[in-house]
Amino acid sequence: MIDLSRQYQLFGISEEVLAYGEQILDSLQDRFRTIDETAEYNQLKVIHAMQACSVSEACLLGTTGYGYNDLGRDTLENVYAHIFHTEAALVRPQITCGTHALALALMSNLRPGDELLSPVGKPYDTLEEVIGIRPSKGSLKEYGISYRQVDLLADGSFDYEGIKAAINEKTRLITIQRSKGYQTRPTLSVARIGELIAFVKSVKPDVICMVDNCYGEFVETIEPTDVGADMAVGSLIKNPGGGLAPIGGYIAGRQDCVENAAYRLTSPGLGKEVGASLGVLSSFYQGLFLAPTVTASALKGAVFAANIYEKIGFPVVPDAAESRHDIIQAVTFGSPEGVIAFCQGIQAAASVDSFVTPEPWDMPGYDSQVIMAAGAFVSGSSIELSADGPIAPPYAVYFQGGLTFPHAKLGILKTLQNLIDKGIVSSDFHKLK
Ligand SMILES: *Cc1c(COP(=O)(O)O)cnc(C)c1O
Repeated sequence: MIDLSRQYQLFGISEEVLAYGEQILDSLQDRFRTIDETAEYNQLKVIHAMQACSVSEACLLGTTGYGYNDLGRDTLENVYAHIFHTEAALVRPQITCGTHALALALMSNLRPGDELLSPVGKPYDTLEEVIGIRPSKGSLKEYGISYRQVDLLADGSFDYEGIKAAINEKTRLITIQRSKGYQTRPTLSVARIGELIAFVKSVKPDVICMVDNCYGEFVETIEPTDVGADMAVGSLIKNPGGGLAPIGGYIAGRQDCVENAAYRLTSPGLGKEVGASLGVLSSFYQGLFLAPTVTASALKGAVFAANIYEKIGFPVVPDAAESRHDIIQAVTFGSPEGVIAFCQGIQAAASVDSFVTPEPWDMPGYDSQVIMAAGAFVSGSSIELSADGPIAPPYAVYFQGGLTFPHAKLGILKTLQNLIDKGIVSSDFHKLK
């Protein structure tokens, strides 16, 4: 066996912390094997899609100007449609982020007088302004599109009666968020999303079912579009960009839904025909190729972190043994110092900006201070090892990403070392189990 301890010492990680990490890893071999199998399945899915769509060297080049006849862009959209088993896809660098992709899907498929329904509780923070839950310029509300929400029941299950009662003649589109985001509800499995969609369609067959797929891509062998979703929407600086895409978002779905989105993104009459890909296509293709294994690395990091911290006694969501449907891990430290030490540990393990010490700050749009750790090659990319947490009770940190498992492992061990060095975790932590 190679002695790793000297390498870890370079990062200030003690032999005790490393040994504890190895012991946890030993217990996770079966979990990791399942994650690797999913990655293998999805790797083949991606390669097969690229072959079926005749991806060629010419596809890796970009266009400028209007971007008419952009072979690489159009082929990549076919590849996405293949992977998601949909009629069409829109995959563009002009979609600036996940929120933009979601806003685009909503604004292009809803018309004044329509109603949007979320049957899974409050959507992601940034969507509150898109919808107009918080008053905002250009929101759906300003355009006369109303919104209704049905919360999950206390045990996390769907409130079928409430959902049935909320669907009315105005209901045009329902939005289902797969990932828990920064909430404590469980993440939805694709199978559960399928059950919900089937129910909604049994009440109103022509309603459009959209899934916010952020952080969920390639975590399972099927995607929401395999279980009835009319659109799956996400960001390329999360899972499907594989860490290489420098920008972008996607909408994969029904032909008419995707067309509506294209006419909204560019212009009525122009739709998908314009939108130069510039020089980003090779990173979109190569990132997609890497996405299944990169997602697996991030998942292993999340499972590792859950096990490391649960056994020391901190509450973790999902817990150490739960099945996974997204790559986010929450750990509750119960004190600001814990959240800060964790985030500083993640930052100290980065390849870029490792010398920066993140501190809590007053981020716009949040009512408490927030601390963020991100030493990323792509700014703000959260498929890369990253963490953030609001400095407010219950003092939980949200951790995600890791382009390789060794990096995720280093980051997590560094957080634990930091917590020990700061006296937040007792130095005889490994005897507490
Ligand atoms: C990240 C995320 C978004 C928003 O994506 P941005 O790229 O940050 O705008 C929306 N929904 C969920 C569930 C997300 O995780």
